Amino acid sequence: MRKCSIFEDYIAGKSIEEVKDKYRLDKIVKLASNENAYGASPKALEVLRNFEDLHRYPNPEYRELREKICEYTGWEMQRIVVGAGIDGILETLFKMLIDEGDEVVIPVPTFQYYRILARLHCAKEVLVEREEDFQIGENIFEFLNEKTKLVIIPFPNNPTGNLEKKNLIEEIINSTRAIVFIDEAYIEFSNSKIEIDADNLIFARTMSKAFGLANLRIGYARLPKWLISHFRAASTPFPISTVAEKCAIASLDDVDWMRKCVEKIKEEREKIFFELQNIVRPYPSQANFIFFKARENVAEDLLMKGVIIRDCKSFGVSGYRVTVGKPEENEFFLEKLKEVL
Ligand code: PMP
Repeated sequence: MRKCSIFEDYIAGKSIEEVKDKYRLDKIVKLASNENAYGASPKALEVLRNFEDLHRYPNPEYRELREKICEYTGWEMQRIVVGAGIDGILETLFKMLIDEGDEVVIPVPTFQYYRILARLHCAKEVLVEREEDFQIGENIFEFLNEKTKLVIIPFPNNPTGNLEKKNLIEEIINSTRAIVFIDEAYIEFSNSKIEIDADNLIFARTMSKAFGLANLRIGYARLPKWLISHFRAASTPFPISTVAEKCAIASLDDVDWMRKCVEKIKEEREKIFFELQNIVRPYPSQANFIFFKARENVAEDLLMKGVIIRDCKSFGVSGYRVTVGKPEENEFFLEKLKEVL
């Protein structure tokens, strides 16, 4: 084992089977992994059913997918790279950028995988506490120095669902030579977008959330031109399978499906938020989940009643995150939450 690495498991949301077995329940509602409860576009499912070339390697250019992403995002096609989810994109970036002792700035609480990668790659994790409302504050500038290699900004943040002030993001980009990585995993659920460009700026997105393709592992990013050849060299040669690529293309040909799901989820998000306000302390969200504060052990108590949500301890904050599901799932969650409180 590499001596400087710290090995730490990623804690995933509990699976339906796991909870069913443990508590001997018939009905389980899983609202723990920010998945799209409506599933993938029917066009993607059809592609999946008809795919036969499992014995062939993918074409490592992923040209058609990158063209579709270019149409969808408006990003320049030559600057688009793909990976096995945003997780895969981050992994390649850490591999190519991080020397032992480099500093990675991570505003916390946030998605745990950033820290896991920093520790694995022998970086120094610089954890910057967010403000009361979980936005990144001006104090971040105290943590940027010549050793900073990477600054990670989720937009919106997971698990808290908030966005950041755009002028603060611009100031961060302008005040450092480090790469600023804006993680837009949940951007489709927000009413905001950042349209800036810089030589030290990366945007990353995923097909796992709004497009409902979490199981296929498809992420993509827009890199500055000078980084592209290094990224390709550092990436595993075939990060996405052809069947996943074709499903992603079919989903991008059916953006309307995604937009309809997002509209329903946003509507439900506001309904749940309204209901939660009467019983716990929810935080406004621009993503497909809601963070709320409540007494200890609520997630464990809900598990026994067949509802899986996330206890956010592993994110470094006391509170819970519930994914917005279908109306009947959300009602079940609210009913059981009222029972346990
Ligand atoms: N970034 C954030 C903020 C996330 O919450 C997640 C998934 N939980 C990811 C990235 C990883 O997404 P993907 O499935 O694309 O690897």
